[in-house]
Amino acid sequence: MFWQKDIEALSRKALEELQLKRLKQTAHRACKNIPFYKERFSKLNIKPNDITSLKDIQRLPFTTREDLRENYPYGMLAVSKEQVVRLHTSSGTTGKPKAIFFSKKDVDRAAELIARCLIMTGIKKDDVLQNMMTYGLFTGALVMHYGAEKVGVLVIPAGPGNTKRQIALMQDFKTTTLHLTPSYALYLASVMGNEGLVPRRDLSLRRAYLGSEPYSEETRDKIEKFFGIDVYNSYGLSEMNGPGVAFECVNKNGMHLWEDNFIMEIIDPDTGKKLPEGEKGELVLTTLCREAMPILRYRTRDIVMIIPGKCKCGRTHRRISRIIGRSDDMIIIRGVNIFPQQIERVLMGIKAVAQNYQIVLEAYDQMTVRVEISKDLFDGRVEHLVNLQNEITEKLRSELLVKPKVELLEPGTLPVSEGKSTRVIDKRTL
Ligand code: ADP
Ligand code: ZN
Repeated sequence: MFWQKDIEALSRKALEELQLKRLKQTAHRACKNIPFYKERFSKLNIKPNDITSLKDIQRLPFTTREDLRENYPYGMLAVSKEQVVRLHTSSGTTGKPKAIFFSKKDVDRAAELIARCLIMTGIKKDDVLQNMMTYGLFTGALVMHYGAEKVGVLVIPAGPGNTKRQIALMQDFKTTTLHLTPSYALYLASVMGNEGLVPRRDLSLRRAYLGSEPYSEETRDKIEKFFGIDVYNSYGLSEMNGPGVAFECVNKNGMHLWEDNFIMEIIDPDTGKKLPEGEKGELVLTTLCREAMPILRYRTRDIVMIIPGKCKCGRTHRRISRIIGRSDDMIIIRGVNIFPQQIERVLMGIKAVAQNYQIVLEAYDQMTVRVEISKDLFDGRVEHLVNLQNEITEKLRSELLVKPKVELLEPGTLPVSEGKSTRVIDKRTL
């Protein structure tokens, strides 16, 4: 099923022609209306007219989150304030927020992109979507909400938290689809498990859209099995509208990135040079349709790779892999680079591991992984715990090449977050 088949299945040639046309327009508008870009272009001694092919994008300046902060609040606006209808800010996981503006057209385009995503997963008008992301300045909930309404789905604006009420809503309104963070999905599973609720038997769930923070295939697997649903990965960031940038289709083999709205590049984060398709590197995105706030070559800091080859669904927009990590949440222990997600993958692949874990960095060379495990293991038989502790330590060592300390905890010991979770506690900088 397609929402806009003519665009979603456009031939690569036509898609690239469209990208070039829109890139030229975007560069012109940015340069003309945003002093920041005007200055950057003149420093690099280039003009929007110098863009004659898609390759020329590599000559344009990068935009970083520091640039957005320095131009806070109104500096990056390309239209007059009368044309702006909405403000969002980035959730600020990694520092001070950035202001993101939408014109009426931008709100509508963002909703269109979400509509494509939802239809791509087989949603229908009679579906009921319980939106458990945070409403407010964060883009996650509102952008999804508008997109789902565009499709004609019934949206329950539940927001996160109040887990008992969430379950009641699911029961009363026969929710079929959830939109939430992976950490909240795991928490929800543990609450339902404790209450003896069996989703397959007691609820009407069919699918969930999980995004806004990194998670592994193992976590997807765990959530799909517990709820008896299909889980689709959803990627986005406030600077690029929020959700709806890239999303999985029914094949669940990477996320189609809407290339008529964004140009993607994968670069080496250290040198800034473009990497060949199939190599992992930092994702850089350029908006092609944004009216209020066009952004050129945004350094997302997210490490991904483009999945080569065509998708069976017929969409021509290329797919990106699961987000491997953020270039700035990489942990360095004894000179070894580690992404928190590698740890998650190992933990979620072990059956006795429950839902929650935390990584504590203590000294420059010491990392402790605190992990909640199944309640039944705390039955007084110490050797079970020792065996499990050794198993986890060894599996982590072989994945990370560094041996962490492993602490086993009863379920419910670690704090639970409703929004984005904080998995890494860095005591080295406190
Ligand atoms: P921030 O967290 O930077 O303050 P956002 O709330 O806009 O701002 O979050 C966007 C970031 O969330 C992305 O850059 C990415 O790191 C992360 N993210 C979003 N969706 C996913 C996903 N499906 N998988 C992994 N990470 C994701
Ligand atoms: Zn597909």
